[in-house]
Amino acid sequence: MADSGFIIQTLQDLVRINSVNTFLESSGKGEKDIGTYIHNCLLGLGFDSEIIDLGKNQVNVVGRWHGTGNGKTLAMNAHLDTVGVAGMTEPFAARIEGNKLFGRGAYDMKGSIAAMLGVAKQFALDKRTISGDLVLTFVADEEYESVGTQELLKNFKADGCIVTEPTDLKICLGHRGFGVYEITTFGKVAHGGLHREGVDANMMMGRVLSALDKLSIEVSKTKNNPLCGEASLHVPIIKGGQSLFIYAGECKINVERRTIPGESKNDIHAELKELLDQLSNEDPKFNASLKNLIWRNPYEVKEDAAIVKSLQRQMPSPVTDFIGHTWWEDSGLFGEAGIETVIIGPRGGGIHQSIEWVELDSVIDLSQILYNTTLDFCK
Ligand SMILES: [Zn+2]
Repeated sequence: MADSGFIIQTLQDLVRINSVNTFLESSGKGEKDIGTYIHNCLLGLGFDSEIIDLGKNQVNVVGRWHGTGNGKTLAMNAHLDTVGVAGMTEPFAARIEGNKLFGRGAYDMKGSIAAMLGVAKQFALDKRTISGDLVLTFVADEEYESVGTQELLKNFKADGCIVTEPTDLKICLGHRGFGVYEITTFGKVAHGGLHREGVDANMMMGRVLSALDKLSIEVSKTKNNPLCGEASLHVPIIKGGQSLFIYAGECKINVERRTIPGESKNDIHAELKELLDQLSNEDPKFNASLKNLIWRNPYEVKEDAAIVKSLQRQMPSPVTDFIGHTWWEDSGLFGEAGIETVIIGPRGGGIHQSIEWVELDSVIDLSQILYNTTLDFCK
């Protein structure tokens, strides 16, 4: 049985440790303190544990329970960092009210970390032997650039993986990816009174925005995935011009294109390039560039993958439907590394918002499901 007292106490400790990603909020403490807590906890429970310093207060922690050999290795993955705490009244109090524990990261995803440490606790108590290894991975920086999981996967092997991002205890088989692009339009700087000389880069960007608006409707209508929903596109940032009375020489936007499984980096680049080519065909003065800044693949695991089947067998009640997430997660990187990965996490709410909570009974249930899945998968 999952040790509920241990899990709740651990969760409270974890929420009380500031692990705000320093790249998102300068007052953030980073992952070192929480990583050290987890490392010590794993050692105390008889796990092999390694803390890997990534610099800049970022660490990964990898705990291993050794199997007797010849079994399948199961990895579990949770990120240590949280988003910022601006606007929160008690981000680190870890206050419990009924079945809810409140605080930054309670749901995303310290509840999951506590559930994973609860698995470690059960191994320590039950002394159950398994053939394969269980590897608990706790990583830095998922909320920013996923440096932690990228570093981990440089030298990592497993036969299956469970990413424990929140799913309200539903089995999640995949998620959308995203590409972030920079589009720049180039005008000609001139005195505001010299309309025959100046070319306004901001007005030029207006045409791009209008075309993108049409494209976003088109994309959402035509690209659909049964689990992850439709593809989408938006423009989070616009910057253009330098001053009143001067023609804008340059205007820059960022485009965020959310992709569904099956869409590739080449596909999306071609889609945006075609849009710009079209505009320059219409007007020879139109001048724009396109640059990809970030790319994250979408991910989808098959329903009959061994890890999915194994997890499905351990659910307290029969699972008939699966879900997909509209946001990207580290599971995408495990998938790229050829490790079949499924996602399951606790129930809660207020993700990235000013009041965040996790439901305690779901954290305990999750821990039991993860433990049982380990025994099944690594047997
Ligand atoms: Zn998360």
